[in-house]
Formats: sequence, C-alpha cells, structure tokens
Amino acid sequence: MLRLEKVHKAFDGFLAVNGAELHVEKGQLVAVIGPNGAGKTTLFNLITGQLKADRGRVIFNGEDITKLPTHDICRRGIARSFQLANIFHRLSVFRNIQVSVLSQQRKSNNLFRPAQSMGVNETTRILESVGLQNKADHIAGSLSHGDQRILEIAIALGNQPQMLVLDEPTAGMSPEETARTMLLIKRLADTRGLTILFCEHDMDVVFDAAQSIMVMNYGKTIIQGKPEEVRKSRAVQEAYLGGEEDA
Ligand code: ADP
Ligand code: MG
Repeated sequence: MLRLEKVHKAFDGFLAVNGAELHVEKGQLVAVIGPNGAGKTTLFNLITGQLKADRGRVIFNGEDITKLPTHDICRRGIARSFQLANIFHRLSVFRNIQVSVLSQQRKSNNLFRPAQSMGVNETTRILESVGLQNKADHIAGSLSHGDQRILEIAIALGNQPQMLVLDEPTAGMSPEETARTMLLIKRLADTRGLTILFCEHDMDVVFDAAQSIMVMNYGKTIIQGKPEEVRKSRAVQEAYLGGEEDA
C-alpha cells in the first residue's frame, strides 16, 4: 500500500532523512523505531506531505504522491496525528470530530443547512469506536492528556482514511493510558481494516503490537522485518546500545 524509495530530506545541509526505505502492506500495523533524532517525525512528514522529499519517492496505492500537497494526500486516504496533540481546545469532543467528518464530506460550507445537524451519525460512530461517547459534550481542552491523544485519532478517522499515520501516539501517557491506546489502535486495525503506521519509543509497546518494524538511525533504514527478526538483529542492538536514549 505504501512504499518509500530512498527518500532524502535535508535541513540546511543536515540530512535528517538519508535514503530511508519503508514498505507497508494493506491492513498491517507497522512501527518505525529509532533513537531520538533518528528522523522518524521527518519521515512521517514526508509521507503525509507536510514536508517534501529532496530525493526519492513516496508511492501510495501504486501512485507517486511524493510531490502532492497535504490535502491531496489526505484525500487519497492517508490521515495522521502529530507528536503533540492537535485539536480544537475550546470545542466539544463531538464538534472536534464533526468538523473533520464534515470537511471529508465537503459539506462544511453548505449555507443552507445548519452544520450542527450534519455528519451526526458518522461522528457518533467514530466517538463510539474510540470509546469517547461518554465525553462527547466535554470541552476538548479539559480532557486528560491521554483522551486528547485519542480524540486526535478520532479526528483523523473523520477523514475516512485507508491509512493512519500516528507519531508517538502514546507519548506522555501513563502505563494504563498507553495500554488502552494500543488496544484501541489494534482494534481499529482489526475492525476497520485500517492500515496503521506509527512510531513509538516504548519497545515493549512496539514489539507487542507491530507486525512489521522498521528501525531508523541517522535518517537511514537499518532493517525492516517481523518483530522476531528485528529483535535478533545485530545492527539494531548496536544502534541502540551505541545510540543516545530510548533503549
Ligand atoms: P525523531 O522524530 O526520530 O526524533 P526528527 O525527524 O524529529 O527525529 O528529527 C531528525 C533530525 O532532524 C533531528 O536532528 C532534528 O533536530 C532535525 N530536524 C527536524 N526538523 C527540523 C527542522 N524543521 N529544521 C531543522 N532541523 C530539523
Ligand atoms: Mg519525533
């Protein structure tokens, strides 16, 4: 479904992504791991179009999306969450999701129907699928950190994506919130047939959830394989032992 071919991205001559490769099959839960500064967030930005690759290609469903603007990539079915939660803090949980559902249905600028009445069924369905239905009326900014991150995933679902790209979905969460979030992510992959690409610094989380793991260091792909292959890899052990943190 997704293939990255030798993508490069430099910031002022510094190669944040330096020839990384990645492949994601439909329906898979794929993790990208690597020490801080390895280039994971930059790589995700190249996939979703926030940044453009200097070299290399991003192929989605057989189509070269390397140079497409973010909204075109989103329309083709890739939605993302950010390392820091990106929500409308002063709107209710329900409205946050509804705005996303309406923008997907492109009804948000229909002047002849009150926006509040539109997209309600789909919004409710998404709320239930992430377990936030009891907090529909809460102001988003008042939610716990964990719930804000889950709301962000719900907002991404409003785009009816084929693929979700999640940048450290459990960052800053308590162990309980992390477990709940990973359960949710696995369930979304199972029940909605979603393909999910995520990066994460907690190794236990990654090895428990991912079907395929890509290890990055210094902007390069060290290996991509099944968890057991990655765990055995000498290069990975060296990257982590020799690397900074996160090990
Ligand atoms: P990760 O998500 O794996 O921690 P990042 O992709 O955020 O890594 O960063 C990779 C490297 O690129 C880091 O050294 C970071 O400082 C650098 N970098 C990221 N974004 C920018 C930017 N907009 N301008 C300059 N340097 C950047
Ligand atoms: Mg990052």
